[in-house]
Amino acid sequence: MKLAFIGLGNMGFPMSCNLVKAGYTVYGVNRSEPKELQFQKQGGHIGKSLKELAQEADVIMTCLPLPADVEKVLLGEEGIIPNGKENLIIIDFSTVSPNLNKKIYAAAKEKNMAFLDAPISGGTTGAEAGTLSIMVGGDKEIYDKVLPIFEILGKNVYHIGESGSGSSIKLLNQYMVSAHTQAVSEAFVLAEKAGIDLSLLYEILNVSYAQSKIMERHYINNISKDDFTPGFELGLLHKDISLVNEMASSFDVTLPLGQKVTELISEALEAGLSKDDMSAMIKLMREKAK
Ligand code: NAD
Repeated sequence: MKLAFIGLGNMGFPMSCNLVKAGYTVYGVNRSEPKELQFQKQGGHIGKSLKELAQEADVIMTCLPLPADVEKVLLGEEGIIPNGKENLIIIDFSTVSPNLNKKIYAAAKEKNMAFLDAPISGGTTGAEAGTLSIMVGGDKEIYDKVLPIFEILGKNVYHIGESGSGSSIKLLNQYMVSAHTQAVSEAFVLAEKAGIDLSLLYEILNVSYAQSKIMERHYINNISKDDFTPGFELGLLHKDISLVNEMASSFDVTLPLGQKVTELISEALEAGLSKDDMSAMIKLMREKAK
C-alpha cells in the first residue's frame, strides 16, 4: 500500500514518520522544502507533485493549518480530487468545519473516491508517541479499511458516524481546550500576583478538581520553563474557536464563555502572539494584570 502525507508540520511530521517506522512506503509533501528533506532523512520519499500522488497513492492524508489550505490541496485545480484516480482514499486530520468535510466528501464520492474527516487530539507528544485520539466521520467500510493506519497513529480511535461528525466532536474538544487555556492563564497570573509558588500550586491543583490535561501541558511544557515555542500555535486556536462559534450559530446556540474567550484570543493575536504556543495566553493576562 502506497501512502502520501501532505503537511509535514508539528503534527504531520511525527505522524508520517511513525507510518514510515511501521514499514509503509510514504511520500511526503510540504509547502517548505526543509521539512521534506528532514522527512527524507527519516526514510520518507519526496519529490512527487500532488497530481502524481493523486494517481499513484492508495491513501492520501492531509494535516494542514487552515480550512483554506485543505480546500486548495484537496479541491483546487492542481489538487488531489480533480486529479485523483478511482478508489483513492483521502483522510484529513486537520481541524476544519463539518460543512467543509461534507463538501469534500461529496466531491470525492462524485469521482468514486472516498473521504474521511479524522481530526486528532493529543498534541505533538501524542503524535510522536502514536497515542493520539482520532475521531472519524465518513463511511464505516472505508474506516475499517484504513483502521491499521489509524492504529499506528493513535491509541483512542473512534468511528463517529457520517461525514463531518469527527469534526463536530473535535470542535467541542477545542471549545474546552480554549476555555481551559484561559482559566489556567488567569489562575496562574493571579497566583503570581498573590505571591504563590507556581510549582506548589501546580502540584496541588494537579491532584484536585482543577486538574486538566491543558493545565498539565501548559505548566510543564511552557509556563514553568518560560518557553512558548509552539507545539500548537495560538493562531490555530483562534481558527478553532472561530469554527466553534460558526458551529454554535448554525444550531442557534449562544456560547457566552466562548464569546469572551474568542475576544481575548483575538486580542492576543493583535498583541503579536499568533505564532507562540497557545499557552502564551498567560502573557496577555500578565499584561492585563500590570
Ligand atoms: P503546522 O503549521 O505546524 O503544520 C502544517 C504544515 O502544513 C506546515 O509545515 C506547512 O508548511 C504545511 N502546508 C501548509 N500549506 C500547505 C500546502 N498547500 N501544501 C503542502 N504543505 C502545506 O500545523 P500543525 O500544528 O501541525 O496543525 C495541523 C492541523 O492539525 C491544524 O488544522 C491544527 O488545528 C490541527 N491540530 C494541531 C495540533 C497541535 O497540537 N499542533 C493538535 C491537534 C490538531
